[in-house]
Formats: sequence, structure tokens, C-alpha cells
Amino acid sequence: MTPQEVLAMIREKDIKAVDLRFMDFPGVWQHFTIPAGKLDEATFEDGLGFDGSSIRGWQTINESDMLLMPVPDTTFVDPFTKLPTICLICNIQDPITREDYTRDPRNVARKTVNYLKSTGIADTVYIGPEAEFFVFDDVRFDQTPSQGFYSIDSSEAEWNRGADERPNLGHKLRHKEGYFPCPPADQLMDLRNEMMQLMIDSGIDIEAQHHEVATAGQCEIDMKFDELVRMGDNVCLYKYIIKNVAFQHGKTATFMPKPLFGDNGSGMHTHISFWKGDQPLFAGSGYAGLSDEAIFAIGGILKHAPAILAFSNPTTNSYKRLVPGYEAPVNLAYSQRNRSAACRIPMYSPSPKAKRIEFRCPDPSSNPYLTFAAITMAAIDGIQNKIHPGEPLDKNIYDLEPEELAVVPKAPGSLAEALDALEKDNEFLLRGDVFTEDVISTWINYKRKNEVEAINLRPHPYEFCLYYDI
Ligand code: GLU
Ligand code: MG
Ligand code: MG
Repeated sequence: MTPQEVLAMIREKDIKAVDLRFMDFPGVWQHFTIPAGKLDEATFEDGLGFDGSSIRGWQTINESDMLLMPVPDTTFVDPFTKLPTICLICNIQDPITREDYTRDPRNVARKTVNYLKSTGIADTVYIGPEAEFFVFDDVRFDQTPSQGFYSIDSSEAEWNRGADERPNLGHKLRHKEGYFPCPPADQLMDLRNEMMQLMIDSGIDIEAQHHEVATAGQCEIDMKFDELVRMGDNVCLYKYIIKNVAFQHGKTATFMPKPLFGDNGSGMHTHISFWKGDQPLFAGSGYAGLSDEAIFAIGGILKHAPAILAFSNPTTNSYKRLVPGYEAPVNLAYSQRNRSAACRIPMYSPSPKAKRIEFRCPDPSSNPYLTFAAITMAAIDGIQNKIHPGEPLDKNIYDLEPEELAVVPKAPGSLAEALDALEKDNEFLLRGDVFTEDVISTWINYKRKNEVEAINLRPHPYEFCLYYDI
């Protein structure tokens, strides 16, 4: 879309408002709205000023003026507003220098693609994320007695109680039987269909939607792979639609990686492939039908995984998902066969075009632009430096003998560990000025201060269970 086409769309659809969207540093969509009449061709050149000082992780108060630069190609009609509204995703610029702002996550994603092209390795990186989420009843609407996961009751049994373990006053699904019989067992079919259709109407190509493995309302809607920056935009829109449809139905959706103790968490398995022109670069005659480039890309991703996880698994809660037994990876290995390896090579299709790497560590609490950028930069490093990932691990990692398992590298066990890893291993991210030193240090300091330390300082509800009666 060009600026002229956006303006024509405003006239044709009688649009009254233009909503400008951008992502803060930790990964939440922000916005403000202007009357449609205030958008003209000059706005696309000159941008719109705003105060960036209150945006998490951004400018300090004395240098807070910033410019939003609407990207015409990102336009979509907001499906939720009463007033006819279009939304445009924006890049952020410094109003004085007119340079793209280094802490704008979308800018990091754009620079990643430019850097990839400059290396001559590939000119396109395709990303396909599978962002899982939970739908819960919203306590603002549902005043029934609190469900177990909201409760801070002192008994272990109460603590373990899930949404399906309320008093058995009638028929209800048994534990782990939500995945994935037809309705009426699947009670979220209509909700997911509504989300799926709004995504399609908003320009996202959808492959499928389904209930996920966790008992209480875990869902997944699969987007078709797309170019990296576009996919970052799509994930923002995906979350926006999911949260708003849930909200309209008196429910709430969460992308928190591990909301329920003792049940599966929500991952955002990320599929990646490099292309040159119309040639897929990851198909070849090696292991699992992979090219040398793909094997080395895996080597780079596994080598840098602890540092990548500081972006792709960026919450203290992320590491409650990365534990054995819930289909989430713990071991940094690769395999075509099993889902317990951090890197899997899906074998659904023999087509070279479908050949890709699935990195299973990321979760949907992450900032998609930064996550996709970090994975891509690690893959580039793997290819440039021919980092071989060693032998694949084709056994179920969960079934390995302790001595076999002991030699397999492990994912960091906490956000603090991942941030330490990023502090030590970030040179691969700095190339091409993609992640600047300022971005890395701001990220580490922000996460340590506002999340790691903030959690450590607070008594945890489960500490009351363990220690209150001591
Ligand atoms: N929910 C699982 C995870 O945390 C993944 C289930 C699946 O294979 O789709 O990664
Ligand atoms: Mg899944
Ligand atoms: Mg998957």
C-alpha cells in the first residue's frame, strides 16, 4: 500500500479515526489516535510527534520527543472500535537527527533483514511462530468462587487445583482431555473461529486453529510463515485480536508462558528458513534433508541459545515452562524426530520449500521483533563461522540415561541466568549495528531491576504454603 492508497481507503470506507501503533521495549503494543482528517501525504514524510519518556525502556525525560513514522503497508481496519478506524504500525525516529531510534524493536528487526542481505547469505528470512495462549474466565465478569490458580490457599491440594478441579457438581472434562475432541468437549471452538476470521479479515494468512494440550482452555492459532518484519507485525495483531475477542466474551486471554502449575505451558515455537530469490537455502541432502547452511544455522542457534533466551524467554515465568515433562525443551540439542529437542526439523512435507528449523524454546511473552532478530543473527553467525551442532539427538531426550543426558547442554534455568549469558555472549548480535550495545545493556538492566530483582524481593504465595506455619 502507498500513502495515496491509505488516504483513498479512508475516503472509500468512510474511516473517521487513524490509530497509530508501535511496540515498547518489553513488547506491548502502544497507541494513540488522530482524526482521519489529520492524516495526509505529508504525515508519512514528516511523522507525528509524541512524548516517548513514559514508554518502558525508552528515552529519559530530557530527551523524550520522538517521531512516529506510519508505515503505509501495515494498514488494517480495526475490527473492535465503534468509530470506523484504521490502524497503522509505525517506526520511531529521533526528530532532530531523523535517524531510526535504536531502541525501537521494529527497527532492530528491520536492521536484521538488512544485515542478512549485506552478508550475501540470503535475502529473505521467513518466520513462522506458533504462539500458544490460555483463555480463562475473566473475574470481572465471573464472580463464581475463585479457581485454584487464583487462590493462595495454604494447602498443597488447593494449590494444585486447576480450573477443571472445582467441586464436581455436574459433568466436566476429565484432566488432560481437552486436547482435542470435537465440541461440545471443545468449548472454545466458536471463540477461536471468531479470532481466526478477524485475523483473516485483517490480512493475516491462517493455516489452522486448535485446542492445545493443557486442560483448561489452552489454544493455538497458526499463522502462515511470513517475512521477518511482517511477522513481527502479525504477532502484535494476533495478540490484539485474541485479547479483544476474549474480552468481548467476558473472558481473558494470556500469553504468560506458565500460568498453571502442573500443566503444559505456552510456547512460541519459531520456524525459520533463509531464501535467496525463490530458492530455499535450508533444503539439501544432509541430515533430515537439510543443507549445510541449515545445519550450521542450527549450530549457531544452539551455541547462542542461552543468550537468545534472554530475549525469546524474557520473563521470570518463562523458566517455569522450560522444565521436563510438558513438551517444552530443556536440552539444547537438535532432532528430526522428537519434540523434546530445542531444535526440531519438521518432516511434514517433502517439499524443499517447506524445509525449515523449528526452535522450540521461545515463548509468547517475548517481544517478537527482538526474538526473531536474535534467532536470525545466531543463524547467520552459525553459517558464517560454520558452527557444527554435533550429532543429532534422535532419542526421546526425556528417556535418556542420566549419564547420556549429563553431556547434553541445558537451557538456562532462570531469567537471571539467561541475562548473564547475554551479558557474556552478545557480539553476534552487534554485527551490522543490529542490536547496539545500548540496546543490550538497557535490556539487561531493565529486566534485572524490574523483573528479576522485583520478584526476588516479594514474598511468593507458595512461601506462605511452605513457611507460614513454621
Ligand atoms: N505447549 C508446549 C510448549 O510449551 C508445546 C506443545 C506443542 O508441541 O505444540 O512448548
Ligand atoms: Mg502447540
Ligand atoms: Mg511446534
